[in-house]
Amino acid sequence: MSSIPSVQKVSLFRENGGPEVLRYEEDFPVPKIGATDLLIKNKFAGINFIEVYFRKGIYPSEKPYLLGREAVGVIVAKGDRVEKYNIGDKVAYLSGSTFAQYTKFPQDGNLIKLPENITVEKEKTIAGSLVQGLTALTFVEEAYNVQKGDFILLYAAAGGAGLIFDQLLKKKGARTIAVASSDEKLQLAKEYGAEFVINSSKEDIVQRVKEITGGKGVDAAFDSIGKDTFETTLEAVKRKGTIVSFGNASGPIPPFPINRLSAKNLKILRPQLFGYLAEPGEWDHYSSELVRLIDSGELKINISKVYPLKDYKQATEDLESRKTVGKLVLEIPE
Ligand code: NDP
Repeated sequence: MSSIPSVQKVSLFRENGGPEVLRYEEDFPVPKIGATDLLIKNKFAGINFIEVYFRKGIYPSEKPYLLGREAVGVIVAKGDRVEKYNIGDKVAYLSGSTFAQYTKFPQDGNLIKLPENITVEKEKTIAGSLVQGLTALTFVEEAYNVQKGDFILLYAAAGGAGLIFDQLLKKKGARTIAVASSDEKLQLAKEYGAEFVINSSKEDIVQRVKEITGGKGVDAAFDSIGKDTFETTLEAVKRKGTIVSFGNASGPIPPFPINRLSAKNLKILRPQLFGYLAEPGEWDHYSSELVRLIDSGELKINISKVYPLKDYKQATEDLESRKTVGKLVLEIPE
């Protein structure tokens, strides 16, 4: 085992702003661990849109802010009171500060032990599946319990989370109406399970939803776009329908009077993934189901591009300009 250095390579920002505030630094301190912590040397880290909200200041953050939410790596040090894990264990985990060579992680955090002989391809897949896979898995059960035959409106249907939603909705027997900004993206959403498609750059979403659902509207909408689609979604959902608003890709939804929901007796919720994983039993249930679905081939994780850590700025520029499909992953230098 190589010794642990005192400084490391990381991707961070020190002030809010556009991609220009992102820094790749090579001399950031390696965290010191306590008695119940692990130190994980990262190999791959998944990129998620949430990094953009922290960088822009839509969500508050302490500075300097080390980016990242998920990773796969190996345990290289552990505190005196850690009994569950050993140095050398390969792991996948959810945590902040994963766009870094080393991450400090509490032994009771959300972690999956990986098989010793796991392939590099599989490591990449797992690193790229946790946040988006668990979001889709928990949301189709708990945010809105999707039923066979439901019409579901799904935005960003060819994105990282979107391609996983397409598959899980299909497995549940729902009839997914996929929205995306290009025909190529929509073709991919169809391959992953969507039944109907709407090209948001040239079609009227509400009109198409009405045509597809015989004038009724959808049973539920999974809307991660936020500001630009809120009014459209309100119109597209049927009487007694549900809006799951779970992202701000176009900006946050401004405050609105709650009685706007009365006209159709709508339900609306604004969940976050961690609210469905707060209890250890919840983490065990959903993380083992995610791994089972991937291992069995029932769920495909589309890793469309792997960037070196130093190129995170380019990766997020690609993501934010809506050029990407599926999942983007960072390879962390040795
Ligand atoms: P994606 O890969 O889906 O990328 C975002 C997509 O949003 C784009 O590809 C684009 O698709 C669409 N989009 C629409 N309007 C805009 C805009 N103005 N700027 C940029 N993109 C836009 O990202 P992720 O899979 O990482 O995340 C998807 C969404 O889910 C995000 O909003 C994210 O915050 C949310 N999320 C929320 C979680 C929660 O716990 N609440 C957990 C995980 C994800 P197109 O061009 O086809 O419209």
